[in-house]
Amino acid sequence: MTEIALARLAGGMEPPAAGVMEEMRQALEDVFAARVRVAEVRVRVPEASLDGARGQYSAPLVLKALLEGTAGMGEKVLGVTSEDLFIPMLSFVYGQAQLGGRGGVVSLARLKQEYYGLPGDGELLAARARKEAVHEAGHLFGLVHCEQPECAMRLSTNIRQLDLKGDALCLGCAALAMEHGR
Ligand SMILES: [Zn+2]
Ligand SMILES: [Zn+2]
Repeated sequence: MTEIALARLAGGMEPPAAGVMEEMRQALEDVFAARVRVAEVRVRVPEASLDGARGQYSAPLVLKALLEGTAGMGEKVLGVTSEDLFIPMLSFVYGQAQLGGRGGVVSLARLKQEYYGLPGDGELLAARARKEAVHEAGHLFGLVHCEQPECAMRLSTNIRQLDLKGDALCLGCAALAMEHGR
């Protein structure tokens, strides 16, 4: 059975809360035929990945640090950070993952209501984190973006789109993930 480690990445901001990590762990176990654990790793969001002008961290550089820092681990690994991530061509990303590969990263920064100047909402944060964990893990299982409205593999480029989709896979994506996990 495929194994996935969910790794909390320390950075400048408060690290992801244990409750949110557990929600993500549960979501991954619900969706994938995988054993999922929350792992303590000694990987930090590298200072060198900070783009000072943007005030954001480079997702590819954070992912690189994660892959290097967990090279000995046999599992797939999904790093979770509170820092805001970007890739050069986009203003921000909720996460990034290697297609069919070993590693991915998820940012909780823009999943928090506080980011939009609204009061915090733990349940909404958990729901969004579940969707984003399943989405990035889906890429690790070889899944590409899907057009089904409810499918977690649907691309979300803003928080409204993220809120509209679900945290499960459509039948087609689920079948493909199953094939890959074998
Ligand atoms: Zn994606
Ligand atoms: Zn789908």
